[in-house]
This record gives sequence, C-alpha cells and structure tokens, in this order.
Amino acid sequence: VEKSPENINEIIRRLEPIIYADCMKKGIVLDLNLKDLLPVFASGKEIRQLILNLTRNAMDAMSKNGRLIIQTEYDEGFVKLTIADNGKGIPVDEFETIFEPFFTTKDNGTGLGLVVCQSIIEHHGGTVKVNSEVGKGTVFTITLPVYQGE
Ligand code: ADP
Ligand code: MG
Repeated sequence: VEKSPENINEIIRRLEPIIYADCMKKGIVLDLNLKDLLPVFASGKEIRQLILNLTRNAMDAMSKNGRLIIQTEYDEGFVKLTIADNGKGIPVDEFETIFEPFFTTKDNGTGLGLVVCQSIIEHHGGTVKVNSEVGKGTVFTITLPVYQGE
C-alpha cells in the first residue's frame, strides 16, 4: 500500500459530508473538534477506512439523542484521534473480544470492521485504546506517529 504525508484533519474534512449524511438519517449530532496537526505517513485510503469503520460502529451503537464526536490533537510526536459516542457501550469483559474476527453483537454484523481497523493501525505503527461504559458510551483513541521525513 502506498503511503504519503497526510494530514488526518484533511481526511476527516473530506469524509465529513458522508459521515454527516449518515448521522442525519439517525438524528445523531456530529461534533468535529480538530486541532492543528502535523502530518502522518499514511495510506489515505486506509485511514478513510479506519475512520468510517469506527464512526459506523459508533452510529450503530446509538439510538436517541446520539452524539458522535470526532476529535484530533497533536501530542509530542503523535497524532491522537478520538471517536466517541454516547451509545450502548461495551462491557469491560468484551474490550479485547471485539477485535477478534467474526465477533459481532449485530444481526447483520460481519465482526470484521475492528479486525480491519487494528491491522490498519498496526500498518501505521499506531495504537488503539477502548474505553467504554455500558449505557453511557464508548471512546476509541487511536495514536499515530507523525511523519519524520524520508
Ligand atoms: P460489526 O460492526 O460487523 O459487528 P466490528 O468488528 O466493527 O463488527 O465490531 C465488533 C463488535 O464490537 C460490534 O458488533 C459491537 O458489539 C462492538 N462495538 C464496536 N464499536 C462499538 C461502539 N462504538 N459501541 C458499542 N459497541 C461497539
Ligand atoms: Mg463494524
């Protein structure tokens, strides 16, 4: 896969109309909070896939009064991307299981979205953390190293 210096905020802004349209359908409020970033060495296609998989999971988890928050910030050599929802949440004992192939709690789920996310994150030398509380919501935090030059 080809990589180039990419600004994550620009990728998010280009996806915003798609994410916004999906949110509208479900009456979900979309909140973008994008801080100035340094570029990451990335496949734009993979980062788009990552963001869409995570935002779609977030939307699936929410019913009424949904709020999807996409946040970025730069912190000491890393870009931090946060995708948060106030949906049904994930039980603590499933924090690791959700990354296993074919694990799904949805009638029409594939259980592959997060498998793909994890491999994309690894491919970019990053990490992913989940924080969630049942009945309150979920936060996925992705950390990616910034571009250091060739
Ligand atoms: P799928 O979306 O096809 O079920 P994923 O790999 O994307 O597969 O997600 C696996 C499971 O992780 C989901 O079925 C759901 O139980 C859980 N999950 C992922 N993201 C969230 C979220 N934001 N809120 C609640 N549950 C989630
Ligand atoms: Mg999914």
